[in-house]
Amino acid sequence: MTSVERHPELRATVRELCRQFPDDYWRELDRKREYPEAFVQAMTAAGYLGALIPREYGGLGLSLTEATIILEEINRSGGNAQPYHAQVYTMGTLLRHGSEAQKREYLPKIASGKLRLQAFGVTEPEAGTDTTSLTTEAVRQGDCYVVTGHKMYISRVLQSDLMILLARTTPRDQVKKKTDGLSVFLVDLRNAIGHGLTVNPRRVMINNPTNELIFDHVEIPASSLIGEEGRGFRYILDGMNAERILIASECIGDGRFFIERATRRASERIIFGRPIGQNQGIQFPIARAHISVEAADLMRFHAASLFGRGEPCGAEANMALHLAANASWEAANAAMQTYGGYGYDSAYDIERKFRETRLFQVAPISTNLILAYIGEHVLGMPRSF
Ligand SMILES: Cc1cc2nc3c(=O)[nH]c(=O)nc-3n(C[C@H](O)[C@H](O)[C@H](O)COP(=O)(O)OP(=O)(O)OC[C@H]3O[C@@H](n4cnc5c(N)ncnc54)[C@H](O)[C@@H]3O)c2cc1C
Repeated sequence: MTSVERHPELRATVRELCRQFPDDYWRELDRKREYPEAFVQAMTAAGYLGALIPREYGGLGLSLTEATIILEEINRSGGNAQPYHAQVYTMGTLLRHGSEAQKREYLPKIASGKLRLQAFGVTEPEAGTDTTSLTTEAVRQGDCYVVTGHKMYISRVLQSDLMILLARTTPRDQVKKKTDGLSVFLVDLRNAIGHGLTVNPRRVMINNPTNELIFDHVEIPASSLIGEEGRGFRYILDGMNAERILIASECIGDGRFFIERATRRASERIIFGRPIGQNQGIQFPIARAHISVEAADLMRFHAASLFGRGEPCGAEANMALHLAANASWEAANAAMQTYGGYGYDSAYDIERKFRETRLFQVAPISTNLILAYIGEHVLGMPRSF
């Protein structure tokens, strides 16, 4: 069974919603570098922002597999699921490790769209991929923590009410293991911005509001701490498998977008008196990319079903993302070649999606780090870091 046949009703509903946001909607936002407010509102009204939030907290209580279908269909339609995906998995840290009081307070408001939790503050200029060396510190003072430090490329800070923040609560030279001493906080951005937190937008290659954050003695209530102090890195890691599977589904959506557009173009564009798709130099790369997307799709559903059964799925989640990120990039290149000069023309949307799908080779997790995980944790080869 191919994924096209799985969850047809959910797919049809999401497709119907996405039809209200055609290519020119996303193209115009991309040109102006604007946030897709109307799209996020429509997703909220449909209840999809609370896709993975259990029903008892006001969400839809969908499975991870179902959430992957939503993300895939958004990207497949020509849209960009980024502003939606953040909400879907950023709240996972709160859901898994928040206190009952925090969950009751925030999750229903997140599900209804009253509060937006779309920011996830981990990356730092010096630490980069080496997360455990991050230096932004949160020092306990009475009934608050005082946060000082520097974060880089943090998305959607100005579009969110809340942000999950990873900060150091014990200096690195005082912890037994390098993964200790980091803590997760739920920061209320409405109180922090302008009160010690400076947000400097960074213009990046795609329409994704990305920022440098400078924390200068930002006071946050002690009640913002999620779970136990010092266990934050583990809490973030806990969410990685779900995140990898969800991102894989966005790549699969992009891959299908490129293949569908390229196939149509190859069949319709007449050069030398025949459709360009009659030339195998055009046809074969599209066929190859289709095979890659289908293979990634199988691994995505395999990983998601292991996750749903509560079984270990680290290897499968990482492999799904690696296969899917490469498949979408392969499909992007095939589409670009098929469109020729028109691929570079923003009116045809290939160049926009080409830029967007390239991100998955780098962020949220670089494909290098996935290979390191497979080489070292799955195959047991010597560790590089
Ligand atoms: C558009 C965009 C949005 C983002 N949004 C967010 C966000 O919301 N929140 C957030 O916290 N971060 C965000 N990021 C940051 C992103 O997660 C990081 O850029 C990414 O994790 C890589 O870190 P770095 O850029 O510092 O690369 P570096 O750590 O400098 O690495 C550079 C390259 O070297 C490779 N490399 C490093 N060490 C090794 C190794 N041991 N073995 C093999 N290869 C290695 C990396 O894989 C990478 O390809 C965003 C980035 C972008 C571009």
